[in-house]
Order: sequence, then structure tokens, then C-alpha cells
Amino acid sequence: MIARIATEISLNKLFDYEVPPEMEASISVGSRVKVPFKTREILGYVTELIEHSPEMSAESSLLLQPTECPQKLKPILEIIGEQSLITPKVKDLALWMAAYYCCTIEVALRSLLPEVVRREQEGWKKQLFVRYNAEAPEPEKLTLRQQEVLAFIQQQGELPLTDLIEQLSCTAEVVRKIERTGKISIASLKVLRDPYSNVRILPTTALNLNEEQAPCLKQIIQAMDSSDHSQTKPFLLFGVTGSGKTEIYLQAIAHALEKGQGAIVLVPEISLTPQTVERFKSRFAEGPLRSQVAVLHSHLSAGERHDEWHKIRRGDARIVIGARSAIFAPVEPLGVIIVDEEHEHSYKQEESPRYNARDVAVVRAQMEKTVVVLGSATPSMESYYNAIQGKYTLLKLSKRVDDIQMPQVAIVDMCSEIRVDRGIPLFSTRLKEAIRRQLEESHQVILFLNRRGYATQLQCPDCGYVAECPNCSVSMVYHRRAQLLKCHICGHHVQAPYRCPDCNKPDIRYSGAGTERIEETLQKLFPQARIRRMDSDTLKKKEDYRDILTAFGLGKIDILLGTQMITKGLHFPRVTLVGILNADISLHRPDFRASERTFQLITQVAGRAGRGDDEGEVIVQTFTPWAPAILYAKNHDYENFYADEITSRKELHYPPASRLALLTIKSMDEEKLQLTAQHIRQLLDGESFQSIRPLVINGPVPALLERSQGYYRYHILLRTAKMMALSRKLFELFQSVKCPKGVSFTVDIDPMDLT
Ligand code: ADP
Ligand code: ZN
Repeated sequence: MIARIATEISLNKLFDYEVPPEMEASISVGSRVKVPFKTREILGYVTELIEHSPEMSAESSLLLQPTECPQKLKPILEIIGEQSLITPKVKDLALWMAAYYCCTIEVALRSLLPEVVRREQEGWKKQLFVRYNAEAPEPEKLTLRQQEVLAFIQQQGELPLTDLIEQLSCTAEVVRKIERTGKISIASLKVLRDPYSNVRILPTTALNLNEEQAPCLKQIIQAMDSSDHSQTKPFLLFGVTGSGKTEIYLQAIAHALEKGQGAIVLVPEISLTPQTVERFKSRFAEGPLRSQVAVLHSHLSAGERHDEWHKIRRGDARIVIGARSAIFAPVEPLGVIIVDEEHEHSYKQEESPRYNARDVAVVRAQMEKTVVVLGSATPSMESYYNAIQGKYTLLKLSKRVDDIQMPQVAIVDMCSEIRVDRGIPLFSTRLKEAIRRQLEESHQVILFLNRRGYATQLQCPDCGYVAECPNCSVSMVYHRRAQLLKCHICGHHVQAPYRCPDCNKPDIRYSGAGTERIEETLQKLFPQARIRRMDSDTLKKKEDYRDILTAFGLGKIDILLGTQMITKGLHFPRVTLVGILNADISLHRPDFRASERTFQLITQVAGRAGRGDDEGEVIVQTFTPWAPAILYAKNHDYENFYADEITSRKELHYPPASRLALLTIKSMDEEKLQLTAQHIRQLLDGESFQSIRPLVINGPVPALLERSQGYYRYHILLRTAKMMALSRKLFELFQSVKCPKGVSFTVDIDPMDLT
């Protein structure tokens, strides 16, 4: 038997190795192995098991280079772990990903598994367990104490040694003495770490679906039960906030479990709140559909992540809920994939492989002939376009459950708030009054500002000096409590100056308020109110997020102030007012998605208001009250926003009317950078790319973020309708271009971040 191996070193080649006969029974596609390579030993994955190593022909459908085939194959040295870590289906998904997102196979495979799972040997937590041996003969000559201890072990069957010692206040010595009789054994066993072990979960049962929900679920279930999956399209579940999308997910998952299948639920990292997880856990905590729910997100310790992952692999947990990378979870068979908040940008990974988990979900569903449901209150332009085009099936929920009204959205024109003497206030009169009113009635308030720190810019009014990061082309942000100027791109920081570093004049001006500044002002305006700020500066420990939300849920906080962290997945019935302090921050970003983002943001933040009995109110502060994104969001009018926006996307050939690939070339040496960028452009204009039509190429031009972490950056933007073909060509280019020393370039397919 021969195994075709993808090594962990970046070669983008597969190598054949001999499988020693004694390993044949335990090896499978996806197994992780140690192999000899030149003079070293390296790790890799089995991508295929074959009988003969043929004269290597290139694997035509993939981007693989022809496999190297030495005369005599070397044997595999070792199989790591008991079970292959990657299922054949997930492996195929990785190969697709490498081809589409222009990365090497190794990089694609590596991203499938958490680091700790890849380094198998260190993963398990071991603990000493004491076990009663019923078959062993009764021991003689035990002391009274030993008899007592033995009786307890017999009653328990098996328990951790530490528990035994603690519960009986006995010594390890006593237990060891009993062990010598053979009546008990002590062995080191794997224990599972459960990140939710101390959370009490109350079981819930399925709700009766309302007249909008029921037909949606019916269609999903029909697709799940269909024998002909060639007709199955992805579903786009477009339901306003609070319309009961999650209930549909839960019932679709229940249906999968009934059929003996599992499910993957993707949720953006910041929506993966304890609240969200508990909703899933509690539904499947008891009853005939009882299943463990595994949770995968970045706040788990490495050990917890390792154990959750193995629970899935062994089939102990059939439901996986997690952020981006959970799309690779080895659930088998897979009955349904849910992508909640499908429009979220965090589904895109901003480092190689630069995949979008939503799109990978659609491909995985297609490859595994299963059903995928993309849900959102504000679908991405891409997904809605696909629905309009008939590629996706649109399901709609237009009302909140139980006739709860959509919140009233008021727009405050900040231009009319400017006072000659005081300049621009942070809070409009209207917002201040509304906060006061809600506090008087003991309601809760959420305030949103997507900007950390105290002030985004430090400027000297005398000489015009602006504090900029020496490594990046952005201004430094003033953090008052820490008395630092920080760069939010590279993390560079310096002591905040008291005088202008250039002209030494003492009056320095700060502009562009961030959350820290808002918190300070709020405290002055409402000294009685209990205010908490939530942004990445205030969250230090992994429990902080949960603790703040719990406190808010219990009514121990009156005003919760924060960045986008507070916009998602929160359900607090006592929140009646939501304020968006500066809608212009997202609206005026130099990005073709700025309008879309602003619409989504206002709608999502507004969705936090009035989820209980009291009506919700939303106040949006802006200097551009006429902006379509703001007006459509005010009227909860997604369809017309879409119609408006798609027109301009078509005119400008932006997604979804076209597809994008972004090449970023960077170097510390600007001249070398320019030359390389020009050279790449010439290659793109060359013959090899002629077959791709249409193809529009812009650039090279300096990137919006011209400098980052000391590197100058250039962009080349490509637009086409034929992305797979373009990806292939770009990958070839990527492999063949010899960049001069100190210059590097990356390819981003379907980029989200164009800066
Ligand atoms: P979404 O996911 O669309 O924001 P949720 O699923 O969170 O909406 O539903 C909002 C609230 O309505 C939740 O408290 C949920 O328990 C409740 N709910 C959902 N469907 C029903 C139903 N059919 N009957 C009663 N309550 C429901
Ligand atoms: Zn910087």
C-alpha cells in the first residue's frame, strides 16, 4: 500500500511513501504521519491511499504539481493519534480551498485543525483513576480503614484518585496498599475538559412555529429529506431581528438528529455569547434527541479546544457550534449547515488561506450533498443577489415574533447641534433626554461607537503637528487611562506628550472621540448611572465578556457602551434605547461596501432594542442624515436599500455584479516595490491571462493603507466573472514570480478588506 502525503512544509507537492504492512490496518485518508524527508523527519497528512505509485501524471482537476516519485519509496515512520484527524470529505474541501483561494495544499490542510489537535501527543489531559476490579479475588487482611475505602470504591465503580482522597480524607498510601491486593487498579486515563461544565442548563422544547416560520422550516426539511440533491439550492433565510430564525435552525437540527445526522452551526465569533451557546445546548440537553453540543471558538483554552474537537471526531457530539473554522469540523454524516449572520465580515479569514467560511459552507454542502441555510436580518449583497438570480432559495420572515413592533428609529442631524461656543457635542439633546427618561424608568440603554480609545487624533493647533505612527500611515490613538498614544494597526505605542513634540507649545488638541472619552462624558452627564464600557481595551480575561453580559442581564448595569462587540446576538428584554453615536464613521470609509456596512450596522444595533414588552427606540446621530443607507435603515427597508445599492455596484463593476481578486505587494524598499508591482502588472497583461474574459485590471497603485508595520504597500485589483479560472492563473503566477529580496505579495480572492 502506498500513501500520498501532503507535508507540512510548504512545497505544494504531494509525495508518495510506502505504508509498512503493520500500519495498513490503522492508516486512513486524513491520518497524520511522520515521514523521512531528505535528512529530516517531518509531519504530514495522508491525502490518498493507492496500490501503485504510477508514473506520475498531474492530477488534472487540482492545482497540484506532478507528484515526485523516487525510485524506491521510503516507508512512513509513525502514525500520530488513534483516529485520522481529517475525514476524506473535509480533505476534499481543503483541496478545493487551495485551488480557489490560491494557497498551497499544506496551508489549506493546516487551517483545518486547531494547533493543539495537530500536535496530538500533548493534547490529552491525563488523570489518575481508581477502578474496582470485580473479578479479582477478595483480598485478605485489610485494615478497617482499607475496607472502608475499598467499599467506597466498589460503590463508585471508578473515580479520580484525587476525588477519592478528598472525599474520604484518606492518604494515597492507603489506596496504593489496596492496589497491591489487585482488587483495585490505578491507571492514568484521558479526561475531557468541558468548558461549560459549571453552567447549569435548563432544557427547552420546540416552540410552535408561527405562520411565517412554519413554511420556511417545511421547505428546509423537504430539502433535507430529498433523495435528489442535484436540485437542492442553498437557502437564504432573510428574517428581521427577532423574527425567530434561531427557532428554525433548532428545529432543522432536530430533524437532522432524528435522521441520525449531525449539524454545524456557524456564528460570528463575537455573537458566540454564552447566551447563544446555551440556547443550543438547552434544546438538546435531554429527551430522545439528546446530543452533546461541541463549541469551538477562540476563547477556549487549547486543551478545551482539543477535547471538543475529539468529541466531534468520535461522534459523541453531533452538533457543532462555532466561529469560522468550525466549518471544517469532522461531523459525519452531516445533515445541515447553518450560517447565522451570513453577512458578517468576520467569516472571512484575513490571512492565508483567505477563505470566507460562508462560501466554504456552500461548497461543503454541495460536495457532501447536504443542506445549507444562510440566515440574516441584513443579507449580504452577494447572497441576496444569488437569491434574486435563483441560485439560492429565498425564505422570508418579515415580522418579529408575537407582534413585537420593530423599534422606532430617529435620526438626529448633528449639524444642527453645533454650538458656536462649544463646538460639536458628543451627545445630542435628543439622545441625552432619551437616556435620562429611560434611566428614570429603570430601563437599560446600549450605546454604540465603533472607535476605541479616548481620541483618534492628537494635533498641535500651532504648528499643525499630528501624531502619526512611524511604521504605518495612520494617526496614533490617544488612550487616556494608560496615558499612551497607540497605533491600532501595529500596536506601536509611546507615552502621550504634554507638549507638542515639534514646537513644544503646551496646548495639544485631541479630536475624534472614542469609547473611553464617551464613557467619561457619560459619567459626568449621568453621575448616578451604572455605566460599563465594553471594548477590547476593557476585556482582559476570557471571563470578562461573559461577566459583563451577565451583569447587564441581571440589571446591574444601566448603560452598556461599546464597540461592535455589543451589536450581535444579545437578547436583553429590558433594553429600550439604543444610541448610535456616530454613524458617519462607517459611512465614510473608503470602501465600496461602506453603505452596506452602515445599513447592516444600524439595523443590527437597532435590533437590540425593544425585544421585551416595552417598545424600543433607536437614535442615530449623523452629519449626513440624507444618506440612503441611513434612511433605508430607519424604515427597515432592506429591499429598497438593495435595489438602490445594486444599481451602483453594477455601474462600478463591484461585487456582486463582478468578482474581485486583490493583489497586495509590500516591501520596506519603496523603489523595489514599485518595480516589482509594475513587473507583476506586465505579467497580468501577458498572454497567459488572455483566456480569461472579461478581465479588468487596475493598478498598481499605493494601497489605501500606504504603509503598515514598516512596509510600503501597493495594490492591483482584478475583476472578472470567472473566478475559478482566474484563481488558477494567479496561483501559477504566485508560484512562478521571483520577487526580489524583501518584496512579497499576497493574493486575496473575494476580498472583504480593500485597505
Ligand atoms: P432571530 O434569531 O430571528 O433574531 P429568535 O429566534 O432569537 O429570532 O427569536 C426571538 C424570540 O422569539 C426568542 O425569544 C424566541 O424564543 C422567540 N420565538 C421564536 N419563535 C417563536 C415561536 N414560534 N413562538 C413563540 N416564541 C418564539
Ligand atoms: Zn503602526
